[in-house]
Amino acid sequence: MARYTGPRCRLCRREGVKLYLKGDRCYSPRCALDRRPFAPGQHGRGRKKVTEYALQIREKQKVRRIYGVLETQFRNYFAKAERQPGITGENLLRLLERRLDNVVYRLGLAASRSEARQLVRHGHFLVNGRKVDIPSFQVRTGDTITLRQESRSIPRIQELMERAAEKEPPAWLTYDPDQATGRVVALPSRDQIDVPVKEHLIVELYSR
Ligand code: SF4
Repeated sequence: MARYTGPRCRLCRREGVKLYLKGDRCYSPRCALDRRPFAPGQHGRGRKKVTEYALQIREKQKVRRIYGVLETQFRNYFAKAERQPGITGENLLRLLERRLDNVVYRLGLAASRSEARQLVRHGHFLVNGRKVDIPSFQVRTGDTITLRQESRSIPRIQELMERAAEKEPPAWLTYDPDQATGRVVALPSRDQIDVPVKEHLIVELYSR
């Protein structure tokens, strides 16, 4: 599946919030949004007329950008969320949270979702003991996510393992630093998904 390869800080500046797309840099004074807190482009500092439609679009773009999903794939997630019982907006976020690259990021085994995506792509993780190199793979309750033994000697991965050992994963995941293994103990509820979005606006957008 294709992915966005353009400048990532530009996306945060467009949305006007930190989307934490660049790992450590996002927490440093080098964050582009801290230095230039206005939209990119010639008219970025200009006054904008904010319509309801614009708000809905921005919310949708924000979620897409946080999880690194392109438009078509995002629409597929939405269609699936609509078919599930319950609240569509929450279903949508839950589907995105269950992506393997997101779970690796949540466990602390990557500094950003894009790094997690690359690590998954390069085959560093096993799900229930089998290699899975598909970032969009959907984890289920009870799944275990393990760093491959052979990958643990890579300096960057060692660094990430040290970080993960000190990090507290969200309540729907557990992490065992000795085994470099995470476990999905439950599917996330809305209050366990800390993304700053109003998902009902996305539902309204697609219901037009
Ligand atoms: Fe966004 Fe991170 Fe870039 Fe700051 S450094 S603008 S949070 S991607």
